[in-house]
Amino acid sequence: ESRTGPVHPRWIRINTVRTTASDQQETTFKDFEPVETVQDVVKSTKKAICFDPHIPNLVAVSPGTDFTKTEAYRSGAIILQDKASCFPAYLLNPSPEDGDVIDSCAAPGNKTTQLGAIVHSRSDNPATIYAFEKDKFRAKTLERMVRIAGSDGFTKIAQGQDFLKVKPNSPEYENVGALLLDPSCSGSGIVGRDEMPELHLPEIPTPGSAKGKPNKSTKPAKEDRKRKREDKEVKPTTIMVDDDGKETEISSEKELQARIDALSGFQLTLLLHAMKFPAARKITYSTCSLYAGENEHVVLKALESEVARTRGWKILKRQDQVRGMRDWPVRGDLAAAGGDQEVAEACIRAYKGDEHCVMGFFVAGFVRDPTATPDEE
Ligand code: SAM
Repeated sequence: ESRTGPVHPRWIRINTVRTTASDQQETTFKDFEPVETVQDVVKSTKKAICFDPHIPNLVAVSPGTDFTKTEAYRSGAIILQDKASCFPAYLLNPSPEDGDVIDSCAAPGNKTTQLGAIVHSRSDNPATIYAFEKDKFRAKTLERMVRIAGSDGFTKIAQGQDFLKVKPNSPEYENVGALLLDPSCSGSGIVGRDEMPELHLPEIPTPGSAKGKPNKSTKPAKEDRKRKREDKEVKPTTIMVDDDGKETEISSEKELQARIDALSGFQLTLLLHAMKFPAARKITYSTCSLYAGENEHVVLKALESEVARTRGWKILKRQDQVRGMRDWPVRGDLAAAGGDQEVAEACIRAYKGDEHCVMGFFVAGFVRDPTATPDEE
């Protein structure tokens, strides 16, 4: 079994602010042969293309073409974005009734521009997207990407703005109904990155464990578990690179756990902050991490929080999700979700190296329970 798994296709999002899928089929992808599935793309010996069955305006194409040199890329008509990274904005599904939208951790802007395409397609007078980015340097990239993608007319970028310092009750945000949270994380789901092979945190679920199958790597025998709990030294020291480039030296399981704990503390704080926006009715929370500590555990803690209970925030159940996400088969880990079947089913996961050919990813949606807040509906 190979670590990297099957050949990775190139995922491309067609940016409908600038173009249409049929225009791109006739121009950028004119030499690509249409096939049915992503597996057909991967197996094809020719240049192949398939339209994704889950995410609108997303295609998988054979690797090997440098799309960054194409006119479509330069003009913002196409955006190179992994399929799993398209899940949060699609799941958030902002509609004109939701009002304005916040992207709390926005650079480089893949999801901001995808939100732009969604709101643009649904109204001649799109809602405002407020995009926050704490890192000034990364905010410049965000600004450039939003401009090239054609969303600058309705996207307000707050460069160097820490989302945690934004006041939810500020009049500027009184119409914000939907928030996308894609905070910094361990980046362990990024394709091509080794997920710390020397370290086996018991909380990294793998596909299948949610179905209750015994899983040797995550459910070792009792003595084995005890041994694993003891801090194991790792030689040489592993450098953990977060998805936003921050490097942390990790030389033991204890240090890895401490790093995950620090990240998940920040992620939960961010999520609870988002839940305080007065008109908010939808939130998505996502990471490109495989660790349950940054994923299902954050979701469970948020649901149990005072702010979620008093404001009526609930998990967005699978059956209430937008069709493509409801149909996506890879769900949260049951054990990591505390045995709560509904929460596990509501959580959306992706694992790198499997037949879906996407990056490792996690996303969950939250909605405000209208019965808990009748005055605001
Ligand atoms: N959503 C982005 C995309 O799809 O292109 C990727 C976001 S990346 C995972 C996380 C970003 O959040 C980083 O650029 C980081 O600088 C920024 N960030 C971290 N903490 C933040 C905070 N408190 N407020 C605003 N931005 C923050």
